[in-house]
Amino acid sequence: MLKPTREILTASLTYVGRAEMTVAGTRYLVARSRRRLRPDFAMSGGSFDDDAVVGVLRERLATGELPLIASGECWAGPAAGGHSCVVCGVAIGQGAAEYEVPHDGARPLHAHAACFFTWRLEAQRLRGSRKQAS
Ligand SMILES: [Zn+2]
Repeated sequence: MLKPTREILTASLTYVGRAEMTVAGTRYLVARSRRRLRPDFAMSGGSFDDDAVVGVLRERLATGELPLIASGECWAGPAAGGHSCVVCGVAIGQGAAEYEVPHDGARPLHAHAACFFTWRLEAQRLRGSRKQAS
């Protein structure tokens, strides 16, 4: 028996979403590998010094170059193209999963899905460490 069209469409959209997440994750890994090949991107002082992207991200959060984002402050959807990821610097391909973060009334910041999740996690960690210190 054939599945109803709506069910097939819903399943297809789910698979497209998963594929976009995989592509975004792959792009993140490629960008991270590129950064590992360029030691001048690396920062010191963290427990993950070998992970240049996370090291640079932590530094940018600590200096305020990137905002400390929290849950519920963004939109996600397929990228229209034309934006680069604020976390890894790699262009976000048209149709890829893209996160858009409002930024103090200025132009919103864009990130790959994997980069956004790392960014949010590191922001939460930094916020938590600042609470403990005060
Ligand atoms: Zn990225």
